[in-house]
Amino acid sequence: MRVKLGFGYVYARLSNLTSVAPSARLTVEVFAGRIRVFRSCGEYWMRRKLVVGNWKMHGRMASNTVLLNKVVAGVRDLKGADFAVCVPYPYLAQAQSMLQATNVAWGAQNLNQYEEGAFTGAVSPGMLSDFACRYVIIGHSERRGLFHESNDIASAKFDAALKAGMTPIFCVGETLAERDAGVTEQIVATQLDAVLDRAGTKGLAKAVVAYEPVWAIGTGKTASPVQAQAVHLFIRQRVAKQDSQVAQALCILYGGSVKAANAAELFAMPDIDGGLIGGAALIADDFIAICRAAQK
Ligand code: PEP
Repeated sequence: MRVKLGFGYVYARLSNLTSVAPSARLTVEVFAGRIRVFRSCGEYWMRRKLVVGNWKMHGRMASNTVLLNKVVAGVRDLKGADFAVCVPYPYLAQAQSMLQATNVAWGAQNLNQYEEGAFTGAVSPGMLSDFACRYVIIGHSERRGLFHESNDIASAKFDAALKAGMTPIFCVGETLAERDAGVTEQIVATQLDAVLDRAGTKGLAKAVVAYEPVWAIGTGKTASPVQAQAVHLFIRQRVAKQDSQVAQALCILYGGSVKAANAAELFAMPDIDGGLIGGAALIADDFIAICRAAQK
């Protein structure tokens, strides 16, 4: 979306756009989790909050209709953040038809890195593009753990998603044993480096990263805002070593038992740019409340 806006309107909508001179005329492009601002003196990027629901293997046609109708109605007026749901493959057509004229984007939870071939049961990037998916979750801990996806496979999928024009939501995070052993940063760095080595910072510039401590996913145990912020900052600083502009614009979501009750304090941290939401994304009121928290 590319809109030419006068200053007053931009200022009202993007209250943190403080560095803009009152008389400036701007062109703004809104992307997944970030905003590109063009001015006569150049261009720069700002981060924008993003909330993504990961439905995992949940949903049926009838219940999805109810859930999506409620979510669409509940977030319709929330203009200060981006929203999406990543649904199971069979419901992509339903998501596309119900969401296409709304401010809720849709995506998938996985893809195969190959475009076609004898891969029974697999779904290619091109197939997801046929349903106009904007996002695809890559390297979720359930894919890594239950389906044995290595860093190499995750990074190949990341690359395939980018080549197909989708925004990968690339998940990183440590297990409880790894946190207890004091190797959180080492684990996250290895996961992140796998995509940096393959796609470079140019690739990462078109992606979203989700920090999801494995011990917090679906367990009801949330990382404290301070714990999460520390890892988000670590991720940003690691990217900044290669490209400070990409790092500054990188949208980094937190995932792991985010609920309506804890979303606002997590999203208030300086390097937390929104959330990847599992269980709470299946309950319309909870998901809407989390989306509202991203607006604050
Ligand atoms: C997830 O599935 O990515 C997730 C964070 O799940 P939950 O919110 O249920 O912990």
